[in-house]
Amino acid sequence: MTNLKWTGFAKKSPQERIDLIREFGLLKEESQEILQQQKKLPLETANQMAENVVSELSLPFAIAPDFLVNGKTYHLPMVTEEPSVVAAASFAAKMIKRSGGFTTTVHNRQMIGQVALFEVPNVDEATASILEKKAFLLSLANQAHPSIVKRGGGTRNLWLEPKEDFLIVYVSVDTQEAMGANMVNTMMEALVPSLEELSQGQSLMAILSNYATESLVSADCQVNISSLSRNKEEAHHLAQKLVMASRLAQVDSYRASTHNKGIFNGIDALVMATGNDWRAIEAGAHAYASRDGQYRGLSHWSYDEEAATIKGHMTLPMPIATRGGSIGLNPTVQVAHDLLGNPNAKELASLIASLGLAQNFAALKALTSTGIQAGHMKLQAKSLALLAGAKDKEVGPLVQELLKEKHMNLETSKALLQKLRQEN
Ligand code: NDP
Repeated sequence: MTNLKWTGFAKKSPQERIDLIREFGLLKEESQEILQQQKKLPLETANQMAENVVSELSLPFAIAPDFLVNGKTYHLPMVTEEPSVVAAASFAAKMIKRSGGFTTTVHNRQMIGQVALFEVPNVDEATASILEKKAFLLSLANQAHPSIVKRGGGTRNLWLEPKEDFLIVYVSVDTQEAMGANMVNTMMEALVPSLEELSQGQSLMAILSNYATESLVSADCQVNISSLSRNKEEAHHLAQKLVMASRLAQVDSYRASTHNKGIFNGIDALVMATGNDWRAIEAGAHAYASRDGQYRGLSHWSYDEEAATIKGHMTLPMPIATRGGSIGLNPTVQVAHDLLGNPNAKELASLIASLGLAQNFAALKALTSTGIQAGHMKLQAKSLALLAGAKDKEVGPLVQELLKEKHMNLETSKALLQKLRQEN
């Protein structure tokens, strides 16, 4: 999959892009057919996935090519409705590839379930009784979902923490290739009668936690500062500003929120393309961003002046799945997994973290140099042109006219389109 010629991919039509992917041999025949025939999620399937279904909502499915992650090249499927996100990711991937690509570490891959007990008459005694039965409780939870044990997973640890008037029992579970919400919920519910008996208290709830601190992944990369500017002095200055931007997200939660939103522009797009639960990923990562009591940026950038490189690092929870949930139901999701080479959950978590870091680099680079709007306005103009009803060949000229306007909106877009049509 290395050294494929992606130059000009952005300028092609969707059909030409599909043809190119076919030429590159990146997809199985089945996936090619799904793309070629635009096979969408069947309404009957959608109707089984949620309640009160009347239709479906489509979103753009794009590809950000050439991500070098742990020495292997990947072409990342991205589902997003936001202009400029895929362009920024592709641009960052190219720059980072030139400096050696991404390296990642998957620290662990377990989910945590919790049973919150209340009205426990003696917390110390209850804690001792529960810990004494730890092995029995772990095996009891496994019996509630024996198939995950057969797959090599299952419960791994049990610990307790008193918090105000609650005594909370936590259980970590190796969920293998699944995200594990349903299996962990089943396991936690199976523990309730024993935990109530051992603690002499009552269970308020038994459920998975989305704060997946036992499912952390780190991504690292570096960028030679010559990528920031050909002028050495300017490159040095821009590198310093980029690192300051990273620091700003550590000290100011207003900035941290936007900083992390930029990271999630990439993360969510790949999480959605692969049929995963993006609310779960968001919930876990935002909680992690606040782990010391203040909400902070998830990524860190430093500047190694001697090596003339800036270095990016990001660690976050990534309880991603390649099995279960709705993954097997949506044909386009199957294409996404195929395009990635059907990675396992750990590999997929690495790709998602790398994409988030790439997206972050692109945003910080733009913000601390030309400003974010320069690139955005062109894409915004394109959206306005499409909204005004411009046909394929009209989009380019209309975008040029819109960019000359001091203030562009749908009204100006419609007026300019009418003018263009009259002139032709
Ligand atoms: P599923 O209920 O679909 O369970 C996944 C199943 O996949 C497993 O039980 C297992 O069944 C099967 N499987 C096949 N191959 C493997 C493998 N290699 N490794 C692991 N399992 C495998 O999904 P999850 O339990 O993962 O739950 C995720 C879903 O729950 C998502 O749709 C999510 O949106 C939703 N959800 C999320 C919540 C949250 O985040 N708080 C709360 C409630 C629901 P078997 O071994 O029997 O074949």
